[in-house]
Amino acid sequence: MSGATLLKESGPKEVFCGLTSIVWLHRRMPDAFFLVVGSRTCAHLIQSAAGVMIFAEPRFGTAILEERDLAGLADAHDELNRVVKNLLARRPEIKTLFLVGSCPSEVIKIDLSRVAENLNIELKGQVTVLNYSGSGIETTFTQGEDGALKALIPLMPKSDQKKLLLVGTLANAVEDRLISIFNRLGIDKVESFPPRQSTELPSIGPETKVLLTQPYLTDTARELKNKGAEIIDAPFPLGVTGSTLWIQAAANSFGIDKSKVDSILNPLISRAKEALAPHVEKLSGKKLFLLPESQLEIPLARFLSNECGMEIVEIGTPYLNRDLMKAEIDLLPPDCRIVEGQHVEKQLDRVRDSSPDLVVCGMGLANPLEAEGISTKWSIEMVFSPIHGIDQASDLAELFSRPLRRHDILNPTKTLTSN
Ligand code: SF4
Repeated sequence: MSGATLLKESGPKEVFCGLTSIVWLHRRMPDAFFLVVGSRTCAHLIQSAAGVMIFAEPRFGTAILEERDLAGLADAHDELNRVVKNLLARRPEIKTLFLVGSCPSEVIKIDLSRVAENLNIELKGQVTVLNYSGSGIETTFTQGEDGALKALIPLMPKSDQKKLLLVGTLANAVEDRLISIFNRLGIDKVESFPPRQSTELPSIGPETKVLLTQPYLTDTARELKNKGAEIIDAPFPLGVTGSTLWIQAAANSFGIDKSKVDSILNPLISRAKEALAPHVEKLSGKKLFLLPESQLEIPLARFLSNECGMEIVEIGTPYLNRDLMKAEIDLLPPDCRIVEGQHVEKQLDRVRDSSPDLVVCGMGLANPLEAEGISTKWSIEMVFSPIHGIDQASDLAELFSRPLRRHDILNPTKTLTSN
């Protein structure tokens, strides 16, 4: 690993819970339904995060645990069975039903795996019922996707076919572009997990080479490995360098000639660097502090430091998987400070002491920091924006240059003085 300093901190994490990931997962797999087993708070969170769908039947909902359930006066398992059957009678098009656990369902110990098992026996052939936890107890919002994918893995058929498997949700257009690059390189069989339909799961086996698109899929990666797949070591496809190394790692693993890879990637790299230049001008030399939330913090810091010239004060990350992150940490400047976990008061003190130009953080901390005159960027935006791949590097940089430009407009005197 590089000379980065790795530290740990403990305390409650100021992060969104895993239910948030339903927002992008339900768009990805339109034949699936996500039924949160939770409280009214959970229902509010998921509705406001996903927005209200006016023209379409929603593909997520909440089975609300009432006071009687929480007090143990009703059999929550029976209640849930009833809710699921009503839902499926009304929505026969649902092919996969995810029962998503929450803090309340975990606290009163509803055994969602048992409910799912019984429903699978009763509803065999009609729908597949799975369960995972989206609870906010000690988990972060991106771990919701990790849990959902892990729940799907036992259903993946076996295969001995040589293939590249892209793992982690990407915007469809970005995914199409990346697959077309791999096809041009000569990798014909490229599949994605999660697939675009929950019933079209890719097969897996010893000839499957997994290329992770997202850094927060620790459990998924482990389970895929247990199924015999090989995880390709690579940084993540954020920025020109990260995306180039990511594609090159897959090409190496398939024995593709370097000159062929260069001939396809070089024009993309030149175009992307040109598009990146105006953002580099704005970002270069600016101080960046990343508070822990999405688990994307290390790849983002690597991109913003190495390609955009930002000075990294601190990289906070809720969890640090040293294996998956090794290639990223190796690319960081040697004096970087990475802090795993969170003690929010101490972290905020360090933010104030270092006077950063930009703080990447959760929505809960953004408003107070903005009120103190510190520009912020919500880390949750990174999972809703198409930021992966060489072509997307300038869009990714723009997410960070925009708040600085807005800050300049709102503080014209300060800008003139500091310039
Ligand atoms: S799962 Fe927990 S953290 Fe998430 S909305 Fe429900 S109660 Fe809140």
